[in-house]
Amino acid sequence: LPLNRGDFDPNSREIDERLRPQSLSDVIGQSKVVERVRVMLDATKKRNDTLGHILFDGPPGIGKTTLATVIPRELGVDFQIAAGPSLDAPKDLLPYLTNAGHGSVLFIDEIHRLRPAVEEFLYPAMEDFRIDIALGEGLNARTINMQLKPFTVIGATTRAGMLTAPMRDRFVYREHLDFYEPDDLVEIVKRNAVKLKTSLTEEAAGEVARRSQGTPRKANNILLRTRDFATLRDPNGQITTAIAHHAMEMLEIDSLGLERQDRRYLETVVSVFQGGPAGLSAIAHSMSIPTDTLEDDIEPFLLRSGLIQRTPRGRIVTDRGYEHLGLDPGLSPFI
Ligand code: ATP
Repeated sequence: LPLNRGDFDPNSREIDERLRPQSLSDVIGQSKVVERVRVMLDATKKRNDTLGHILFDGPPGIGKTTLATVIPRELGVDFQIAAGPSLDAPKDLLPYLTNAGHGSVLFIDEIHRLRPAVEEFLYPAMEDFRIDIALGEGLNARTINMQLKPFTVIGATTRAGMLTAPMRDRFVYREHLDFYEPDDLVEIVKRNAVKLKTSLTEEAAGEVARRSQGTPRKANNILLRTRDFATLRDPNGQITTAIAHHAMEMLEIDSLGLERQDRRYLETVVSVFQGGPAGLSAIAHSMSIPTDTLEDDIEPFLLRSGLIQRTPRGRIVTDRGYEHLGLDPGLSPFI
C-alpha cells in the first residue's frame, strides 16, 4: 500500500472491506451513477448477456472499488481483482484472463498505470475475448491465439485523462464519481457507526461528515478514530459532539476538513512561491512528496474548495486559501 492515501490508519484497506456496501441498494449517494448502473445490470440480466466493460473514475476513497464489487454480486458472477501497477508483464495478466469464467468480472484498479505491453495484451481480450501469445524467438517465433470466455473488465482510475485513447475506447460505459454531498456522508457515517456498534449523536455525525472532504473513506477513518476517543472518554462510549471536536483537534483536522498535509501544501505555495504560480513538481520537491500524491490525494479537494487554482503557469493560492490560513490575501501579488 502506498503511503500516499492521506489516510490516518494503516489498516484502512481492512476497514474498507468491513464497511463496504454489499449490494447496490446499500450504496449511498451518487444517485445518477447508481441509477445508470442499475439499468446496465437489469438490461444485461434481461438479455442474458455479458455486461459491457465499465470504467469508473474519481478521487481516491470515493467508491470505485465498492461499485466494482457490488456489480458482480448483483449479477451473481465470479469476481477477480488485479492492481494495474503490479502487473509487470503480459504473463502476470494471463492467469486472470484464463481464469475469467463466462460473464465474470475482472476488476483492474489503477488501470491508468498498466504498462504498455500489458495494456496491448489486454486490447484483444477486451474486444474479441481473444489473446495472442508469442512463443519462441527469431525464426522460430510464432503466435498462438487463444479464445477466452466472454467476461467484463471494470477499470478504476483516479486519472481518466492519463488513459490512452485505445484503452478508453474499449469501455462501453464510463462513469465519473464525484465528491459526496454532506447529507449523503452523514448517512454513510450513521450507517457505519451501526455496523461498528457505536452510538453517535446526530450533531457528531454531521461533524464527522463535514470534515471528511466529501470522501467516504475519510469519513470512515475519522469515525474509527473518534470511536477510540469515545471508548476512552465517554462513560457510555458514545461519540458526542464534544468528543468529535476533541478528536478532530487531536487529529489536526480543521474546520474545512483539511489535514496537516493539505495545509502544508498551501503554506508551501505561500511561503516558498509567494502564493504562486508554482509548478506541480516544484511544489512536490519543496514538500518532499511525490507529484502523484499531490495530484491524486491533495489537490482535488483544495481545488474543489476554491483554496487553490490551476493556471497555465502553475498553481496559485486563492484569497480564500490565504484567509483559511489566517493570512491577509493582500500578501498575494497575483490575485
Ligand atoms: P481507491 O481509488 O482509493 O481504491 P475507491 O474509490 O475504490 O478508492 P472504495 O474503496 O470503494 O473507494 O471506498 C472506500 C470505503 O468508503 C468503502 O469501504 C465504503 O465503506 C465507503 N464507501 C464508498 N462509497 C460508498 C457509498 N456510495 N456508500 C456507502 N459507503 C461507501
